[in-house]
Amino acid sequence: MGRETVLITGVSRGIGKAMALRAAREGYEVVGLSRSRPDGFDGHHYAADLGDSAAKEVLNEIAATHRPTRLIANAGIVTVAGIDDVSDDDFEATLRVNLQSVVWTVQALAPVMRQEGFGRVVTLGSRAALGKAGRIAYTSSKAAITGLTRTLALELAPSGITVNCLAPGPIDTEMFATDQPPGSPAREALIARVPLHRMGTPDEIAHAAMHFLSEGAGYTTGQTLHVCGGLSVGGMSA
Ligand code: NAP
Repeated sequence: MGRETVLITGVSRGIGKAMALRAAREGYEVVGLSRSRPDGFDGHHYAADLGDSAAKEVLNEIAATHRPTRLIANAGIVTVAGIDDVSDDDFEATLRVNLQSVVWTVQALAPVMRQEGFGRVVTLGSRAALGKAGRIAYTSSKAAITGLTRTLALELAPSGITVNCLAPGPIDTEMFATDQPPGSPAREALIARVPLHRMGTPDEIAHAAMHFLSEGAGYTTGQTLHVCGGLSVGGMSA
């Protein structure tokens, strides 16, 4: 069972929920974690706040009970503030959920993966890590994720564990809608800069995640894949 079990954090909505539904369809046993329970999800669910170190106990319980050898560390929050406005509290909270909780989660699951001699870890970065004005805390956390991914890849490679990062562009989720609501000038201007001229869907990120989770992706590690409609390539110069 352990070899086919995947833990997905941030599973209650958006990209994480799409990943959970897709992973279940592909035959994985899915364990989800978020503060609220997703609707229409049949897998195991654990309620925990990844902004609080008490979540480490829940992560250890998941490791002991389900022995997942696959992980998608997807949970994340965005805070909208530039350098003049970002507060210490917001900065710390964003780094805690988006970065430190990924460390906690890998710390909990790595022993299981080492015992199995196999593991797949997927982290969530962002196109915004390349630079996005007004998102000091968020972009700092997501840029750090790419460094963490590369270092984890080196440390875990001897145990047959791959670690890769997905860096979405603008994806139509609650997070994005809260930040840049439908019809807002900022959203329309961003879509205009995307070479594919649209936002992405959560399922398009889930599709890419399934590749990194698969057995066949065993020779790919330490990489960051931008799934962004071409924005990281062509949209930066516009
Ligand atoms: P979303 O719709 O806001 O969903 C975020 C998920 O994270 C929810 O399930 C939420 O569940 C969970 N979460 C947030 N804070 C948490 C906490 N303290 N403890 C446990 N779970 C927590 O966001 P999304 O758009 O799907 O984003 C998913 C990931 O993709 C994030 O890492 C985000 O940075 C990244 N991303 C998104 C976009 C985009 O355009 N949407 C672009 C680039 C990268 P609860 O609230 O129930 O806890």
